[in-house]
Amino acid sequence: MRAVTIVPREADSLRVQEVPDPAPAAGEALVRVLESGLCGTDAEITAGLYGAAPPDSPYLILGHENLGIVESAPTGSAVTPGDLVVSTVRRPCPEGCLPCRSGQNDMCLTGHYRERGIQELPGFMSERYAEDPAYMVRVPRHLRPVAVLVEPMTVAQKGLEQAFRIQQRMPWEPRHALVLGAGPVGLLAAAAMRLRGLEVTVASREAPGSPRDELLGQAGIRYLSTETIPAEELRQRLDRLDIVFEATGAAALIGPAVSAVGTDGVCILASVTEAGRKTTLDLGAWNRQMVLGNRVVFGTVNANRRHFEAAVRDLETAEERQPGWMGRLITRRLPFTDAARALVREPSDIKTVLVFAGGC
Ligand code: BGC
Repeated sequence: MRAVTIVPREADSLRVQEVPDPAPAAGEALVRVLESGLCGTDAEITAGLYGAAPPDSPYLILGHENLGIVESAPTGSAVTPGDLVVSTVRRPCPEGCLPCRSGQNDMCLTGHYRERGIQELPGFMSERYAEDPAYMVRVPRHLRPVAVLVEPMTVAQKGLEQAFRIQQRMPWEPRHALVLGAGPVGLLAAAAMRLRGLEVTVASREAPGSPRDELLGQAGIRYLSTETIPAEELRQRLDRLDIVFEATGAAALIGPAVSAVGTDGVCILASVTEAGRKTTLDLGAWNRQMVLGNRVVFGTVNANRRHFEAAVRDLETAEERQPGWMGRLITRRLPFTDAARALVREPSDIKTVLVFAGGC
């Protein structure tokens, strides 16, 4: 079969090449890949900055955002041939730490977890893959056009689920939320909060009136351009913020994100930034603000099965309430043989998706 591969830590090593067909082990299902989305992590891996190949392989099959159709499955398993499925990304650590053995490998303690398409396990950018059905989440047929957004949506879902759980520390009726960053995760987080009835503002660097501004407007979400209002001033310009969701990937925005959150509020840090960006911070003032305002700041990465199921539910609700809106986040679909071209960002890109097979 053909797959999109890279050689980890080697820039410009991306290739579409023949690789051995997957051989399902006992208990595993075989899945035909329909689509795989591209994200910042894929760009970093392709640039040679991140990622690791399986121990016995010179290359890594790329791709962790996925949608496929089950071709064969062991009898009595959780999936059956013809099911539309999205697989989770992370697999537990060999030590079996407490979160990993409790089905929450997104909270792995040892850091020895593996991730498909990222860390030591083949990704989903291949014509087929084999997997344990325990890691697959079934998706209703009518979500076929948008289901490739399930994985990026899980990042938003996990952040929000954790925030709401943490906030059980008091009576809490969140009303105002700010999302920093209008990439796929930021837009999906904004949509998920809007579905929960919050007044949501997204701030990002695109100019006012940009296609993203327009897209957000259609969903009842306000857009502010940091071209007009610097991120540092957002706090003064907005009502007291109960939730701040940071999804820019830019280290310079972490300070403004953390200081924007209001009394009793929670700030979700969800972007993996590069190290090396130094800034001066008045730690005394920052700590004072945190303590006197009972504020919480926390980090979140990856997602477990629960968040995949929540992502499917939110995509369903969004499609019911505003059919077609989610689909507009997918701005380019290209054949997987054009993977190199797909990775070159175009100004209008939100989510680029590689197509491996059509139909169903
Ligand atoms: C993926 C996560 C993964 C993280 C770090 C993200 O792009 O969505 O599943 O844990 O990268 O590797």
